[in-house]
Amino acid sequence: MALIVQKYGGTSVGNPDRIKNVARRVAKYREKGDQVVVVVSAMSGVTDNLIRMAKEIMPLPSEREMDMLLATGEQTTIALTAMALHALNIQAMSLTGAQAGIVTDGVHTKAKIQNITPKQVHNLLDDGCVVIVAGFQGQTQEGQITTLGRGGSDLTAIALAAALKADLCQIYTDVDGVYTADPRLVPNAKKLEEISYDEMLELASLGAKVMQSRSVEFAKKFGVVFEVRSSLNDNPGTIVKEETENMESVVIRGVSLDKNQAKVTLAAVPDKPGVAARIFKAIGDGAINVDMIVQTASHGAGVPATDISFTLDKSDLLKTQKVLSGIQKDIGFREVIPDEKIGKLSIVGVGMRSHSGVAAKMFESLAQANVNIDMISTSEIKISVVIDLAKGEQAVKAVHEAFLG
Ligand code: ADP
Ligand code: ASP
Ligand code: MG
Repeated sequence: MALIVQKYGGTSVGNPDRIKNVARRVAKYREKGDQVVVVVSAMSGVTDNLIRMAKEIMPLPSEREMDMLLATGEQTTIALTAMALHALNIQAMSLTGAQAGIVTDGVHTKAKIQNITPKQVHNLLDDGCVVIVAGFQGQTQEGQITTLGRGGSDLTAIALAAALKADLCQIYTDVDGVYTADPRLVPNAKKLEEISYDEMLELASLGAKVMQSRSVEFAKKFGVVFEVRSSLNDNPGTIVKEETENMESVVIRGVSLDKNQAKVTLAAVPDKPGVAARIFKAIGDGAINVDMIVQTASHGAGVPATDISFTLDKSDLLKTQKVLSGIQKDIGFREVIPDEKIGKLSIVGVGMRSHSGVAAKMFESLAQANVNIDMISTSEIKISVVIDLAKGEQAVKAVHEAFLG
């Protein structure tokens, strides 16, 4: 008998038939005598729709109320999934994140899990129940409902697998596993049998939305091995685990394109000590995550000034503009120029550590595809470039072809 945590994403629970399909899959494991904890997302499109309605009421709604709103999506699915299991005569009970003992900090819409006390989950499992937990949500110590950032049901599943010391953690989605690129963008992308935490983490942070990046971080920290696989067939998926020696023989594991990034340029920022610190302190205080930062050489007649550009999630753009206009006068930069039409294209692989010429090859393939590079950033196992969003898809195909075609 094994204890299995299974997570089903939005498409996998997208309508009543799909929910019945989930119930049948869970039933197969129950028949073998396994204990099953099922984490579900909101039905596909529901979270987006709730966000759209909120923004119709006001552009920057209260984040506490956003969490109150968004948590309803998953709450619908847990109840329907429990009913689908009851219809198969399987004992099951649904729990909200709070009822499952998921305690978070108070950073609404991006809360971090602080601890999990899954007492009710254990009790229900002991009673022979399948336990269905709402993904993406938790509760602060004070009893406020929080959510864990987009894609956060992945995190709920991994964190529960760690807390329950599950034997298996399976992430069921609408593709067969993790591919060398988004199979929707690059039709000849190949499914990977395995991938290291670090590579998966980079791919996820760089736009491969198949896994939420924070969930991969959590898995790495607690050593949770998990499998990404399809809820629509029985094909083996991709195992995500600690790096093994043979992984370095592959130079590039995957290519990703993040279309949800924006760029902000601060023009004519006074070039003196402490200015960048003040700007990014204000942004950090707003719980806004910044990724690439580029500062130009000093320019300007008389008083030296520079331009500072940085990238961030598109969803944080409005908030960032508000923060920046609050400090503009005090710091004395000329203007804030937002740009939503960018894409961030990245290549990732632990093999980059031991191979040279990778950047040159990437830039050459972009040049051949006539794609201009706006910003560049690198780490030990990744190279990212900011490009024109309109050229994103052709660029991703060109780079994939050069390394993995
Ligand atoms: P779920 O609702 O199950 O959480 P998501 O939509 O969040 O599913 O993630 C699955 C999607 O991720 C796929 O449909 C695919 O288009 C996209 N994706 C992006 N990059 C990759 C990749 N490298 N491998 C597999 N899927 C990817
Ligand atoms: N429903 C949430 C979202 O759409 C969480 C998830 O699906 O993982 O982001
Ligand atoms: Mg997802």
